[in-house]
Amino acid sequence: MSDNRKVQPLQAVKGMNDILPPESARWEALEATMRGVLQRYGYSNVRVPIVEPTALFVRGIGEVTDIVEKEMYAFEDRADKHGQAEHLTLRPEGTAGVVRAMIEHSYLRDSPRRLYYVGPMFRREKPQKGRYRQFHQMGIEALGFAGPDVDAEVILLARTLWRELGLKEGEDVSLEINCLGQPDERAAHRAALIAYLEQHRDVLDEEAQRRMYANPLRVLDTKNPAMQAMAEGAPKLLDFLGAESLAHFNGVKALLDAVGLAYRINPRLVRGLDYYNLTVFEWVTDKLGAQGTVCAGGRYDGLVEQLGGKATPAVGFGMGLERLLLLLETLGLQSPAAAPDAYAIVPDPAELPRILPTLEALRAEGVAVQMHAGGGSFKSQFKKADASGARFALVFGGDELARGEVGLKSLRTGAEQVGRSLASVADWAAELRTA
Ligand code: ATP
Ligand code: MG
Repeated sequence: MSDNRKVQPLQAVKGMNDILPPESARWEALEATMRGVLQRYGYSNVRVPIVEPTALFVRGIGEVTDIVEKEMYAFEDRADKHGQAEHLTLRPEGTAGVVRAMIEHSYLRDSPRRLYYVGPMFRREKPQKGRYRQFHQMGIEALGFAGPDVDAEVILLARTLWRELGLKEGEDVSLEINCLGQPDERAAHRAALIAYLEQHRDVLDEEAQRRMYANPLRVLDTKNPAMQAMAEGAPKLLDFLGAESLAHFNGVKALLDAVGLAYRINPRLVRGLDYYNLTVFEWVTDKLGAQGTVCAGGRYDGLVEQLGGKATPAVGFGMGLERLLLLLETLGLQSPAAAPDAYAIVPDPAELPRILPTLEALRAEGVAVQMHAGGGSFKSQFKKADASGARFALVFGGDELARGEVGLKSLRTGAEQVGRSLASVADWAAELRTA
């Protein structure tokens, strides 16, 4: 290679982020908190592929949705030996894949399931703060439960997570709920709504005009300020609900009331995915500008059957992790990156055969030890020890080793260095571990 020719470095795909230390530690801390909460509510982890047949999302999410119309990363796979190429899509959301897996493996036959997933989703949107092309969701799906009790449970699971993260409900995040009823009730409302939209055609933007027959409910979910007044005055779905749907909605509200969780009924909350019925909800924040929905979900009793399974009621949510972390950061609630307990100072790398067994023994005792590597002066190693955030330096100097000891020096208090025996690590390892 010629010496002055420079290789142009490649960059990540627009809207797709690298998550590097120390930022990645915040992700791990969040995931650990989430897993603790999920476990306490009895939810089990599922891991399904990131790539699925395109038809799954078209059938599951609905043809006339933002996601399927314009946001999917859909492509044709290479042709097989018969010249057939499969249509594949990078998953834009988690529910369809989980439901597909449940049907494929007959997992809903004997008992209901409480499941969760965590992972990347892909949507070809305009990247901006809180909106990316590869983003991450934690989602839960409770399959085989028909009652309002589990609707309340999934909402409460999110509240418990907010509490563990230090978010204040009603202030940092608040709950909005609505009831979308059943398909026949929506059909009656839909007819009234289309008639209303036809009367207000002059204020509808291009997208609304295009959607008013295919998905008129979604027209009301517009972010266009010029259409707000029109949307406010539109016929409300809640007025078209029958006794059963209202009883379900009242059931959810009564349970939320019983646990003292405040909510706002938002009659225009419809969600961007087609599969919802009865309860829908969003946890929203006003601290992140336009990207204010942190967690969104609802009931989707028709989806399992729609995807070829036996009719199974279900409810769940998806939570945007980037937005949640952004919110925590905005509020100064991010947990600091975990520092090691101790940093091992290795003045003479030739002594490593004597030092390494001690480090390994400490790690086996649960102590987080970062080993200095690459030599350097005693002083520069101490600087690195300090910068690592460790509470202790382990000094493996020649004098210490000659005594069969390692020096234990606090990096956070002025305490004198003390010697500890290399032969009995288990006796003093607890001194180093985080209390
Ligand atoms: P929005 O109205 O903000 O576009 P959505 O209705 O498309 O959201 P869902 O499909 O319900 O969102 O996804 C659930 C959650 O995932 C959202 O509330 C949000 O927190 C997060 N989310 C959705 N799209 C993105 C994205 N492109 N980048 C980052 N997070 C996202
Ligand atoms: Mg969207």
